[in-house]
Amino acid sequence: MADNNVKEIDDLIKIISKLPGLGPKSAKRIVLKLINNREYLVKPLANTLAQVYKNIIRCKICGNLKSTNSNCICLDKKYDQICVVENIADMWVIASTGIYKGHYHILGGTLPPFESKNSGNSLLIESLINRVKNNSVKEVILATSASVEGETTSHYISDSLKDTKVKITRLAKGVPVGGEIEFLDDGTLFSAFKNRSPITNND
Ligand SMILES: [Zn+2]
Repeated sequence: MADNNVKEIDDLIKIISKLPGLGPKSAKRIVLKLINNREYLVKPLANTLAQVYKNIIRCKICGNLKSTNSNCICLDKKYDQICVVENIADMWVIASTGIYKGHYHILGGTLPPFESKNSGNSLLIESLINRVKNNSVKEVILATSASVEGETTSHYISDSLKDTKVKITRLAKGVPVGGEIEFLDDGTLFSAFKNRSPITNND
């Protein structure tokens, strides 16, 4: 892939070209920029990466990223809304629009379309139920994607929360079918959020 014989540089190009949106060509450009700025870029980048590797973990309660040096934001004072998303990218998109300023719960994925209880084990659903119970939450906003998996997950969660009597809402259908939250434009997301509607459990 690279056309020089320096193993370290080849390795770096290989790693960088694995990043989203980057191929070998842009990876080479980045590596060149780094190499030409050893003190200014390589050193702080190496240090920061080491810190991130050492200190950043996923909170087992809310699924957000946290530093091992401080408490997670989910342990903050009482809150009455939780917005449930599939992944951190979705949370960042919603947060950047400023539509919603409350707490988040990051599931870490979706249930497969044919729901089986065991397959949900790696998702943070149990801890969501505990958060709702322990924080007298008034509303759970389900912001999973409009895909089959997203819908399955949303149904499963609203069913799991039935006994808590919490108000459960789902983003309005403005979200295109199969739509990933991460790729929605602000306007669509804003109206989906604003026009969210309550889910009723009829069974
Ligand atoms: Zn947390």
